Amino acid sequence: MMNQQTKNRTNWLDLNGQKLVISGPCSAESEEQILETARALAQGGKVHYFRAGVWKPRTMPGCFEGIGKLALQWLKKAKEETGMKITVEVATPQHVYEAIKAGVDVLWIGARTTVNPFAVQDIADAVEGMDIPIFIKNPINPDIKLWMGAIERFRKAGITRIGLVHRGFSYLGETKYRNRPMWQIPIEMMITYPDLPMICDPSHICGNRTMLAEVAQKAIDLNFDGVMLESHPNPDKAWSDAKQQVKPERLLEIIDQLVLREARQDDELIQNNLELLRGEIDEIDSDLLAILGKRMEVAKRIGYFKKERNITILQQQRWEEIVQRFIDIGMENGLSKEFSVRLITAIHDESINNQETIFNETE
Ligand code: PEP
Ligand code: MN
Repeated sequence: MMNQQTKNRTNWLDLNGQKLVISGPCSAESEEQILETARALAQGGKVHYFRAGVWKPRTMPGCFEGIGKLALQWLKKAKEETGMKITVEVATPQHVYEAIKAGVDVLWIGARTTVNPFAVQDIADAVEGMDIPIFIKNPINPDIKLWMGAIERFRKAGITRIGLVHRGFSYLGETKYRNRPMWQIPIEMMITYPDLPMICDPSHICGNRTMLAEVAQKAIDLNFDGVMLESHPNPDKAWSDAKQQVKPERLLEIIDQLVLREARQDDELIQNNLELLRGEIDEIDSDLLAILGKRMEVAKRIGYFKKERNITILQQQRWEEIVQRFIDIGMENGLSKEFSVRLITAIHDESINNQETIFNETE
């Protein structure tokens, strides 16, 4: 069952109560690969759009950068044969012209493009006056404003059918994901843009096959409007993103096993957002305490060093430098001077206690 709001935001997708499913390979590699994948995905009629990357933005030159416009002809064939609509990523005005010429039904903006307002504006200028739907992936970095900026640029260009794709955010720390989902960001977008459909791309969030179903279900539980998932007839041999692709048969199984829940009301969405933010706080607190533990280990090593050389524990000049550094870095991070001083005093007291224990140890 759909509530009114969900219905409104997916009206133009004509889903008839279903969740939107977009699938296909990360990259188009050959006509055979495209047709084989499309035919398999079309079984059961659950996949609404067939996707394939034709131009691939790669981090390093020399990787497979896509077949280019020739592949659009293969997609066109897949569409004619299976009836699935087709969607490709566009990153330049030239891509837009080629895609439209080939009858592509929906364009999507990749994460590496959404980060760049110049690139987004160029594409927005290219589609101005065209009646083409556009899906906008989140930017690679967790900067919600860039995502919003891209929506506004396309709206200003007169695009009325805009969808959002949550594909996670890159993160340098330790994480089990290829791109951390940071669910509170897409939820905030859903609250800010209640009229835009939001779908999830578990493939690029996970970076592997094992967590796909779990992440897709989480998105559905959060009242997302659908999923974009990569599929390939021979995933291990895929020319890009091999680890995260699944065979079309497995893809259909993942879709079939998704449990659709009663659509959530707005206040539930907000409550959910609160829970996610609290989860985020808990995660940060764990990191914070782990880092403080590490700091204390270093303080203890200093304690042993001072003891061996018979140096006093408290060195006034060093302490003053530490406090000043804390205040400066704290201010850069939006923390008040008072808070930074209280925090470093508490940490420093604990270090001194530890060092005193070391001084008092008898060998
Ligand atoms: C893709 O969909 O294959 C892709 C390149 O995704 P993203 O822009 O999310 O990295
Ligand atoms: Mn990919």
